[in-house]
This record gives sequence, C-alpha cells and structure tokens, in this order.
Amino acid sequence: MVGSSPMQAVLVAPGVKDRKVLAFERSGALKDKDAATGLVRAILAANPAQRSAFYVFDLAKVIDLFRAWRRALAGVRPCYAVKCNPDPALLGALAALGAGFDCASRAEIEAVLALGVHPRDIVYANPCKPEPHLEYAAEVGVSLATYDSEEEVAKVKRCHPGCELLLRLKGPDGGDVRVDLGTKYGAHADEVVPLLRAAQRAGVSVAGVSFHVGSGATNLGVYRGAIQAARAAFDAAAALGMPPMRVLDIGGGFVSGPTFDDAAAVINDALAQHFGDLPRVEVIGEPGRYFAETALTLAARVIGKRTRGEVREYWIDDGLYGSLNCIIMDHYVPTPRPLASPRPGEKTYTSTVFGPTCDSLDTVVTGYQLPEMSVGDWLVFDDMGAYTTGAGSNFNGFATSDIKIYVAYSS
Ligand SMILES: *Cc1c(COP(=O)(O)O)cnc(C)c1O
Repeated sequence: MVGSSPMQAVLVAPGVKDRKVLAFERSGALKDKDAATGLVRAILAANPAQRSAFYVFDLAKVIDLFRAWRRALAGVRPCYAVKCNPDPALLGALAALGAGFDCASRAEIEAVLALGVHPRDIVYANPCKPEPHLEYAAEVGVSLATYDSEEEVAKVKRCHPGCELLLRLKGPDGGDVRVDLGTKYGAHADEVVPLLRAAQRAGVSVAGVSFHVGSGATNLGVYRGAIQAARAAFDAAAALGMPPMRVLDIGGGFVSGPTFDDAAAVINDALAQHFGDLPRVEVIGEPGRYFAETALTLAARVIGKRTRGEVREYWIDDGLYGSLNCIIMDHYVPTPRPLASPRPGEKTYTSTVFGPTCDSLDTVVTGYQLPEMSVGDWLVFDDMGAYTTGAGSNFNGFATSDIKIYVAYSS
C-alpha cells in the first residue's frame, strides 16, 4: 500500500486519482443514511446543472469494509468480483487496499490490468470461457481459472495450456440466498473425481478448489458444508496421485453488517476444522456485493407526475431498464425516500413510481407511501452499489452509462 493511511493510498490510486473526489464531513451522530442524504444535497448545491439521476460513491465506505474484512477474515484474501460493479474508482480503491480480483471476461481483465494490477492477482473465475478470452488471458499471463466440465479442460489445454485450474464445486443448497448460482455452476459430488481425472489426463494442473454459496447468503451454515466438501476434493486429488492442491477459493455471497461477522465466524471455524492441518493452503474469497452494495447511493429526479384522486403517480429518470434493473435481476427491494426532509405531520399519499421508458413493466414501486412531490424533486435509493449500473441497458434511448457517478469520501 502506498501512502501513510489507507485513504491517502486510495486517493492516489489509478482509477481514483483522475476523478474529482469530494470531501464530505459526516458529523459523528449522523446515521449512514443521513450521511448519504447530506452528500446528495452537497452535490446538488455545488452542481446546479445536475438535473438527472446520479450516484454518490463514498470511498470511505470501501475502506471501512476492507478494514472489517481484514479484521474478521484475516486469513482470506479478498479478490473483488468485478461484475458486481466495474466502476474504475471502486476497482482502483480496492487494488490500492491490497485486494485481488475475480474477472469473468476479457473486458474485465483489461479493466483491472489497466489499473496496474499484476496478472497474478487475478482469478479468471468464469467456469465456461469463450476461446478468444482464454487466449487473451494466456497472452497477458492470467493463469488461474475455474472449471466445472470436461469440455473446459480440453479448451484450456488448447488455448492456455499453462493455466492452472480451480475445480468449482456446487455450493450446498439451503443458503437462503438472493441469487442461486448452483443451478448453473459447480461440480456435483459425484463429478469431482471424473473432473480431476480429466485434468490429470490432459496434463493441466489443478491448483485447488472454488465454490460460491450464492449471492446474499443468510443461512451461513452453507459455508461450513462447502468448506467440508472442498476438503474432500483436496483429498480426492491426493488419492489420485495429483500434486498437492494449494488454493482454496471460498467465493462470494457476503453481505456487509452483522451477517458478515457471523459468516466469518462460521468460515474461520470450518477452516480450522477442515484445513487446520494444511497451513500452507492459500485461502482467497471473491466478494462482490460485500464491498459495493452500501458504498453507492442513487438520487433519481422526478420528471413527471399525475394525480388520480388520492393516488399520486410519479415518473423518475432511472428505472428497470437502467440501474434499477436490480429490482428484477438482483431482487432489490426499493424503499426510496424523498431528499427533502419530512415536515412534522406531513400527509402521505399512496404512490406509484415509474421509470422513464415507455414499457409498463418499468415500474419501480406501487402502493408506496410518499409525501406530495413535484417535478424536479429527488428520490434517494440506498445501497445501490451491487448489480446495478453494470446490467443496465440503453432501452428507449435512456442510457444507463449517462448516470453520473460522483466520487466522495466522508470523514
Ligand atoms: C457473482 C460472483 C461473485 C460475487 O458474488 P457476491 O455474491 O456479489 O459476493 C463471486 N464469484 C463468482 C464466480 C461469481 O459469479
């Protein structure tokens, strides 16, 4: 890490140093949400021309979360999953703090390398990779990748024979996850030995095991089951006479806050139980949501209004085809609040909030209580950093990439 404090290191990091960074003071008594509101207000006051939806990205959040990770999961190196939010300032901040990266495509690898990250700090964690992307990984020296099919072994042998593999295991069911990845990825228990054999036959080395319990896991016992299954795969490889595995990748799924500390306790305990006798195994994780979710706040502008008796209908300038695609793709439950402070005893109305496109699906909330608002007012959406901007579209000419991201740090 460069500089004398994490914040100094982050401010001079590639991806951050060329952006304007707003310093913002949050007084100690302020809750997170009030701090975010204060930031939105400060930005609007300083930029009267800002008349469309924008984000505030608080770097201090990322630093706090990194510190909390280090404290709770000291033995696990976080490799941030770029797909969660590929903003270069977030990537650069995490690189400066010492994170590695989970990339899933050529473009994600390029974005991370452009920030000066060493290829060895990247895991190509997409079990099924297009050949040209794999050839690119070979060219730039990204040489650790996941797999969960025999066909992938053959492809790696063809396109990137020096690549080391991590066998991706299906996470246990029952994690009460927001997004289940096990329906698509991960070897089943009875596939582990055949997949190890396939690599052995091909002469492609298997450096270790990975899993992903699913995004936003709340039943944390799944980490224990997954770590136990990973150890069984380590033992299976040894029984096949393969060189000892040296990497355990515990994937992502983490949510910041008390749930994270509980997950860390389960993981540390399971690591001691199942990997305590293998102290040289390097343990990495692939958190996405953990670092991104709470660091970004969205402000959307009311651009239209209709009054139908006691019901109020509003249009805002972000929606389900934009960054609020997370409502569908990530099961985000929006609870927007007006930027204006509520007046005591203020009447609220049953309200609908629509996105800007002409599709009726583009509806953000219905039956939602809001005070009377006018065109030009703002609605604030908290915790909008994970799986938002990255999956938005240009549908109907409303480009998600037009939503400006203001970088700030609160102290
Ligand atoms: C999406 C993904 C992640 C990040 O998951 P989070 O739930 O956001 O932590 C990590 N690893 C892989 C392979 C993924 O596909």
